[in-house]
Amino acid sequence: MKVQLPVHKNEQRTGTVTDLTYEGNGVVKVDHYPIFIPNALPGEAIEYVVTKVTKNFAWGRVLAWQSKSPDRVDLADQRYLQTGIAPLGHLAYPAQLRFKQKLIQDLLQKAHLDLAVSPTMGMAKPYQYRNKAQVPVKLVKGQLQTGFYRRGSHQLVPIEDFYIQDPVIDQTILVVRDALRKFKLTPYDEKTGKGIIRTVMVRRGYYSHEVMVVLITKTQHLPYAKELTATIKKQVPELKSLVQNINSKPTNKLLGDENRLLWGQATIEDRLLGIDFKISPLSFYQVNPQQTERLYQTAIDQAGLDGRQTVIDAYCGIGTISLAVAKHAKQVYGVEIVPAAIEDAKQNAALNGITNAKFVVGKAEEQMAKWQKAGLKPDVLIVDPPRKGLAESLITAAGQMAPKKIIYVSCNPATLVRDLQRFVEQGYHVTKPIQPVDQFPQTTHVESVTVLERTQND
Ligand code: SAH
Repeated sequence: MKVQLPVHKNEQRTGTVTDLTYEGNGVVKVDHYPIFIPNALPGEAIEYVVTKVTKNFAWGRVLAWQSKSPDRVDLADQRYLQTGIAPLGHLAYPAQLRFKQKLIQDLLQKAHLDLAVSPTMGMAKPYQYRNKAQVPVKLVKGQLQTGFYRRGSHQLVPIEDFYIQDPVIDQTILVVRDALRKFKLTPYDEKTGKGIIRTVMVRRGYYSHEVMVVLITKTQHLPYAKELTATIKKQVPELKSLVQNINSKPTNKLLGDENRLLWGQATIEDRLLGIDFKISPLSFYQVNPQQTERLYQTAIDQAGLDGRQTVIDAYCGIGTISLAVAKHAKQVYGVEIVPAAIEDAKQNAALNGITNAKFVVGKAEEQMAKWQKAGLKPDVLIVDPPRKGLAESLITAAGQMAPKKIIYVSCNPATLVRDLQRFVEQGYHVTKPIQPVDQFPQTTHVESVTVLERTQND
């Protein structure tokens, strides 16, 4: 049976935007049927064309604005929206912060959880904050270019000012681009499998200012390696590390496993919450150091530590939270699924003379059950899971271990709200307003800290 849809492809319509999705698209409804429209803000009256139709929703594109939102900022450069570098770049920063708070509020309400959400902690300067860039290298009209892919494609849009990155990183990318052009190195072409350079990665320590450049190549051989090195070194005074990373596989994965040091040190250093970290090309490291400090400090403050507590940091990564907590706790246990991250965590503990943090490789849900069997009784459990949230078995194990407090650092409000409901079933309740912290200004990412305490009746 053919369902009659309220709109059809290529139809031109007018409408008023009623909402903004978690992906930052405006929503216009026709008889409850939603049409998602990029670059359209709530309250705006628009003319639009329907670009794609499915059974449950459609996509559209703005043709003209009849009225604009007072929260709209006229982005000088539309490429930031087109590429997904700044999907909220057209929304004024205070409105971005309200959007993130409301996103959590709406999800809580849908789940019938009556909980307060504090205003989002924002940045004074909500751009040029990223300490890391990974930019594809491609031929565009016969010339080697660096930039960013158009949303949902592998079509490169050349960009020089990336807006949300440390400007020294932007300059470094241009130095590398020009050097690659000068020595006529060819970009890797996914279609033909030919060419050499895939991606340029640049990192810069927020406190240390140390710069690492990684040239990710398709081939083992990097022609003109010496000349490239000399050129980049001369023009990037803060360069500490220049690495070739070889990724010969036809994959979307950015980095390969093999690193070759072209010049300098294999790692750079930076600090976070007073702890020194060594960062190698493959290490995970938080990309917004200022806001990470605020996010994690909020979590640590909420934990209420006075040096006597035993703390578990599940999903510990390279131990950022664990090592910061160790100073205020008796003993910290960290678990993380990526072996290389645990190696980094151990090395970082040693580098900082921290001896009361123990790190193990494993799945958090399995390791929690093991610790529980072994009789470990944590006072505080900190979780900082990936977007998919917590495994149900972890929540059960946590309930059985019965820590007084659970601190939930979340990067996805949808799974946070789901998991909070499960924790309530395990005898926990949320004791403070949920605190969103803006880790990724201009984007739709929403990070937050929630404190749960055991309901006292056992
Ligand atoms: N707090 C950490 C980052 C946490 S990001 C830091 O600041 O470095 C989430 C981490 O969870 C990632 O490092 C990911 O590798 C890890 N992870 C994903 N699934 C996991 C699982 N089932 N058990 C343990 N760790 C997991």
